[in-house]
Amino acid sequence: MSDGGDLVELAKRRGFFLQSAGAYGGVSGFYTFGPSGAALKQNIEDTWRNRFAIQEGNMEVDAPTVMPEPVFEASGHLDGFDDMLVECPECGESHRADHIVEDNTDIEEAESIPVAEVEELIAEYELVCPTCGTGLAGQAIEDFNLMFETNIGPGSADPGYLRPETAQGIFIEFPQLAEYARNQLPFGVTQIGRAYRNEISPRKSLLRVREFTQAELELFVDPEEDEPALEAVADVTAPFYPAADQEAADGQPYEATIREVVDDGVVGKPWIAYYLGVAKQWYESIGVDMDRFRFRQHLSGERAHYAADCWDAEAEVDGDWIELGGFAYRSDYDLSKHDSYSDEEFTVFKQYDEPVTVERATVDPDMSYLGPEFGGSAGAVADALEALAERDPDAFDESEVVVEVDGESHAVPVEKTNFGVEEVIESGEHITPHVVEPSLGIDRALYTALDHSYREDEVDGEERTYLALPQEVAPTTVGVFPLMDRDGMGEYARDLVEKLRAAGLAVTYDDSGAIGRRYRRQDEVGTPFCVTVDYATLGEARDDEGEPAAPDTVTVRERDTTAQKRVPVADLPETLTALRDG
Ligand code: ATP
Repeated sequence: MSDGGDLVELAKRRGFFLQSAGAYGGVSGFYTFGPSGAALKQNIEDTWRNRFAIQEGNMEVDAPTVMPEPVFEASGHLDGFDDMLVECPECGESHRADHIVEDNTDIEEAESIPVAEVEELIAEYELVCPTCGTGLAGQAIEDFNLMFETNIGPGSADPGYLRPETAQGIFIEFPQLAEYARNQLPFGVTQIGRAYRNEISPRKSLLRVREFTQAELELFVDPEEDEPALEAVADVTAPFYPAADQEAADGQPYEATIREVVDDGVVGKPWIAYYLGVAKQWYESIGVDMDRFRFRQHLSGERAHYAADCWDAEAEVDGDWIELGGFAYRSDYDLSKHDSYSDEEFTVFKQYDEPVTVERATVDPDMSYLGPEFGGSAGAVADALEALAERDPDAFDESEVVVEVDGESHAVPVEKTNFGVEEVIESGEHITPHVVEPSLGIDRALYTALDHSYREDEVDGEERTYLALPQEVAPTTVGVFPLMDRDGMGEYARDLVEKLRAAGLAVTYDDSGAIGRRYRRQDEVGTPFCVTVDYATLGEARDDEGEPAAPDTVTVRERDTTAQKRVPVADLPETLTALRDG
């Protein structure tokens, strides 16, 4: 484990990440991934894609990061994607009011507390501005919308926003995506891409930034019929921390299998439980320490109003539990919203097993008999009656029906001459699928994997730092060194680099400095194997009989144990590929 400072220092020195635009003073909440970090991030994304898209048979899309305003009107972000901002009356610095409460009291998840209560807590605990120490009691809290606004094209007629989550790019294309899935539920659509939030106070390095990468899956299911086959993850165990236990004085997370939390109803939606199992396996595979990992259910105040159930994957980093990903059962909220705000239908046609005959009320469009009291609205009343007939044919069993047109109620007498019943054969119905959403942040996963794989030990009496990253995600799989760049060892090593690269391995070549220093450099970027070309490789070392000792072999040194063994060069690509892929 690192203290955060050591890791951030190593991250900059060894090319994982650094604050962007340092030449211009830096800007909070924006980071550039260096060569090691970009490779690590790409590997993490590849493993996510493999696990959540390819292995699960889900599709992948790649939508724009800028979207027009109506999308966010429909999604609710324009109105409600706010954080609580409190401004210091002395230095003018803005802070997140809920974070000030969390950081200085033992209250957790202050985000879920109403604004007025947060104001009271600030006064009650006499909380102060983290920048200048001035008391914040009495300062009003404002809602601050986190979306970055821009204009699409010249002028300001078409406002657009940088997407605050990748999900909307999937939801708004649902009608076409359903076609690609041949209207068969369940189907899943994934996306890995940048999201932008104008965070009030970015902090903790990559953990809260203003531009980050999300990996999201939107799984569209028929709530009446689709259940996951749990087998693949049924035996996966993890610590679960249900809301009730968080609220109980002595509640603690407890270890359970995915099967158990479904059977016991602890995770109410089996699809959510299924993806918790998948996610746990994935987090473990990228280097998150499972002794510092848990699933925590949202408290009722924390949950979005449309989410029937929501769990977070959390990891402990520098003594705090941070959210790595959210798993929400979003019901039909998103698709219904886009259905009503747009011109398209966000439904799928669900075929019945057998066609059914249904009775439907019919309405004569000629409403002239209704008399002058309906004035010019007779046509609109007829439309309203027709809509009602489709929705609720039984309404016409009464002697009169009431419909609303333009805010006015019209009581219409039901006369058999104008209303009838017809029989129609229906082969199915339009339903709005429900959405199961695992939404994972790549930057937080990457930072946690680095933090949890940070190790310090002693080798040959010297302190060393290394990253015990899993081979599958390590930025480089193998470092190749000639003992010295002379007598042909350099050429031999560079040749070997070409061969290993041709075999698809990520290889780095290094001939500068003592071999021990070269090992340390690779240890610090988490390179699992180092290969050294020496005189024996060239056939110039002799055994007891005076024969070449080990020609065309190299030493392979393993990062964590520092153990070395000699391996024939001919077998090296296969040996290393097998080691990388476990
Ligand atoms: P938080 O409560 O920590 O702000 P959130 O609940 O708003 O996070 P979601 O909207 O559920 O986050 O987003 C899904 C994932 O995206 C998060 O679990 C996290 O990994 C990532 N994420 C969200 N905001 C940020 C950010 N500002 N910086 C880095 N990653 C983020």
